[in-house]
Amino acid sequence: MTQHDKASPETLVVHAGTDRYQFGPVIPPIYATSTFYFTDAEQGAALFAGEEHGYIYSRMGNPTVEALEKCIAALEGGHRALACASGMAAIHTTFASLLEAGDHMILSDAVYGPTCTLVETVLTRYGIESTGVDTSDLAAIERAFRPNTKVVYVETPGNPTLMIADLKAVCRLAHERGALVVVDNTFMSPILQQPFRWGTDIVVHSLTKFLNGHADVVGGVIVVRDETRYGAFRKMLNQLGGVLPPFESFLVHRGIKTLALRMKQHCVNAQKIAEFLASHSAVEWVRYPGLTSHPQYELARTQMAGAGGIISFELKGGVEAGRRVMNSVKLCTLAVSLGGVETLIQHPPSMTHATMGPEARRRAHITDGLVRLSIGIENADEIIADLEQALSNATVKTAPRGMVDRRPKPAPQPDHHTSTT
Ligand SMILES: *Cc1c(COP(=O)(O)O)cnc(C)c1O
Repeated sequence: MTQHDKASPETLVVHAGTDRYQFGPVIPPIYATSTFYFTDAEQGAALFAGEEHGYIYSRMGNPTVEALEKCIAALEGGHRALACASGMAAIHTTFASLLEAGDHMILSDAVYGPTCTLVETVLTRYGIESTGVDTSDLAAIERAFRPNTKVVYVETPGNPTLMIADLKAVCRLAHERGALVVVDNTFMSPILQQPFRWGTDIVVHSLTKFLNGHADVVGGVIVVRDETRYGAFRKMLNQLGGVLPPFESFLVHRGIKTLALRMKQHCVNAQKIAEFLASHSAVEWVRYPGLTSHPQYELARTQMAGAGGIISFELKGGVEAGRRVMNSVKLCTLAVSLGGVETLIQHPPSMTHATMGPEARRRAHITDGLVRLSIGIENADEIIADLEQALSNATVKTAPRGMVDRRPKPAPQPDHHTSTT
């Protein structure tokens, strides 16, 4: 899609990755096939030798998946992208491609929970060491470097603290010491933040969140800057096997068509709701990069094109107030994950970050009354009205009549592991 190379994000989300296909469909078809036939033995050999572009087997490449990958690479301003079965598959493939036994990595302490677990439990078994630091503190990053530091892994804004890493400064520190910078850009999407602009080497996303935006797919993506690295990553992904299937790729590509519109609305709504929360008497403090009270408000304005859809706030009544508010919301849905069109609410200390333990939570600034909101694209005043009635229950002893949730209780869940999104 070379004619779109210079296009704006609003145009790219609609057109990037829409190549010409047989019969002229406007939308890339779902190539639901595991394998592709060769016209003759010579073509099969040429495809395997890489002398001809084409498809062999869907773990190695598939046109529907490739269409999505082209779209995301264009949006991030990268060279190529690799769609993966989940955000975690993208992160694992990235670490497996960049690190080996004896290497050291630095990562944000307020990093996505399973990323932290992957680094601390799986990578350590392969002899890879790590140091968690507050990546909003450049001096702390600088102190954490060792001669064998190969990767600095940054999530900005952090989850759920919403602290911001200065990407330009982090990249300078890392590059001076021969390390690469990987940014998890899930919270911003390429519409609000383009880490390559600040020198980042590799970008990863959970497609599950804003990029797909409709809470109906689990997926991930890696974006790289050059062909050499792309080749190494593609080989690793092919060997680890965590690829995104064609149907999911189709859905995510479809979701991305409205990404620019959705991100605008997430920002407008979240700003309004953050201001409402900041003025509420049951709320101790609000953390949102669009509020002047955010300690890094100015950095957010230079690095990000908008403050995003995620808000964290601290309730005055701690864990108990958190429980009451969670049980009182009606329009907001009590669920983990984020970045969808619907507003979600959750209580990190008792949910996503429960397995961290109190000491690690304290270090990562995850306090007892912390609530995380992923603001959707509903009418902002109606979200505010729902939060207002829920917050009025933050301090009462029992929920007043009529506040009882009469929705059917979900069926019992199969065993699942904690510590998620
Ligand atoms: C959800 C999430 C992930 C993991 O993505 P999955 O698609 O759930 O595997 C990684 N990083 C961040 C910031 C996330 O929010």
